[in-house]
Amino acid sequence: MSFFFNPNNELLRYKSAFDKKIKNFEKSIIEEKGKYSQLLNSIPLPLALINEQRFILFSNTSAKNIFPLNFQGNYLHQYFRDPILKKTIEKINKKLDAETFNLKIELNNKMVIFNVKMHPVLSEEKKIIYYLIIFIDQNKISKSIQERNDFLANASHELKTPLTNILGISEIISTDPSALLENKSFGKNLYSSAKSMQNLINSLLSLSKVEINKNIIVYKDQQLDSLINFIIKEYKSNIQKNNHIKVVNNLQPKGAQFKTDKKELSLLFFNLLDNSFKYGSTLVQVFLEMKKDNVIITLNDNGQGIPKNEVQRVTERFYRVKNNDKIEGNGLGLAIVQEIMNNHNGAIRIESEEGKGTKVSLIFKGV
Ligand code: ATP
Ligand code: MG
Repeated sequence: MSFFFNPNNELLRYKSAFDKKIKNFEKSIIEEKGKYSQLLNSIPLPLALINEQRFILFSNTSAKNIFPLNFQGNYLHQYFRDPILKKTIEKINKKLDAETFNLKIELNNKMVIFNVKMHPVLSEEKKIIYYLIIFIDQNKISKSIQERNDFLANASHELKTPLTNILGISEIISTDPSALLENKSFGKNLYSSAKSMQNLINSLLSLSKVEINKNIIVYKDQQLDSLINFIIKEYKSNIQKNNHIKVVNNLQPKGAQFKTDKKELSLLFFNLLDNSFKYGSTLVQVFLEMKKDNVIITLNDNGQGIPKNEVQRVTERFYRVKNNDKIEGNGLGLAIVQEIMNNHNGAIRIESEEGKGTKVSLIFKGV
């Protein structure tokens, strides 16, 4: 039998070809891994790859620089004990989609807030292989935002003081019994112009505060029903008018919670209730309900309504419905509401019929 037909030699040949293939395969895996880690290391944001058990498989250079030694090769919950990590993984497993949340971490005796983005990395069969986590240091971002905030606060403070003086003096002139009739009317005009300017400054400040919140606020669990009732009570005591507001609680379970911030939610409610009563409503009904995982708050009024062709535009900054000039406003209230809903990753839907009323639905997602 010739050497070439020896079955043992055939087997040896197959084995060596197979070994060579495996070696090449291993080499290409190492090369791929090297390429990916090089790529991930070049990203100037701390990021990590974890598995479902929250074991840190890989962390890039930026993460290694800021997190403790041995970060890679340990469990994530050893460093951050927040239950939100586990809950987020469960949510991602359900939706196969990225999630964002804020995490407070103590680093070198300093509290740092990170905006954390967690993305599932999927196989071709749409199964999660691992999770990519990106940490965005809010303290760094908020520094530049803080500068803008300080500028705005200073500028508006500088504007507010002389404005208060103008308001005071114009009020005295317009009500002074010894003043000439003409001067009284000048005083009244001056007072109402200064009042409009004050409203504008307050709205601009609110809008900018809400924009800044987007990067720094950490929403906390709140009991929906009691929070809404608290806000409405506050609204009623603030406006000192006996406006009718009725809360209908359709929540199942009744004590449902959702993540929000008290100040933002009351600013949102103040703007919506203010609109309803300003535009002719005598009653606002507030419905609270849960559909799937979403909390839905609906405000139903019986005011003058919004023309069909303008409903789409009312949340734009400075947009006011035409033929509405007699009613005071800057067109910023609903822009503030929209911004607050954006911060919550939620949505706003407005339906309206002229002469009948307006329905505003606020959808808070993924509770
Ligand atoms: P601001 O809120 O800044 O004082 P504004 O009320 O005009 O001024 P938005 O609250 O943004 O501004 O509302 C935009 C426009 O939408 C209003 O001018 C008004 O015409 C219309 N609108 C809003 N809410 C209602 C409502 N509940 N009923 C009728 N019209 C409304
Ligand atoms: Mg308004």
